[in-house]
Amino acid sequence: MRTWFEPLRRNQRSQKWAQRAEHERRRQCSEALSLLQPYLDGNLEPDEAEAFELHLDACRACGLELQVYRDIKGTLADRRSAPDRAAVSRLRQFVAGLHHRY
Ligand SMILES: [Zn+2]
Repeated sequence: MRTWFEPLRRNQRSQKWAQRAEHERRRQCSEALSLLQPYLDGNLEPDEAEAFELHLDACRACGLELQVYRDIKGTLADRRSAPDRAAVSRLRQFVAGLHHRY
């Protein structure tokens, strides 16, 4: 147990620094997230896009966020070009079934 406590106590001095680093990381993340949509739409200046990509390389959270946005965008684009009629009618039947049950 002692060995587990020791490094923790030693790190307490750098806790303030860690908090500042965490604060800075969050600031960068919120900035990156505000650029997400314009980045996907191709509306960023080249240097903005580069800074955005640099942050994404280092930040897993924002990388995942971009992935989610890309998936949503892809899904919407698919729906516009080819609506899945079978899925829609299955959904309608399912909803109709719910109404009959209650
Ligand atoms: Zn981030």
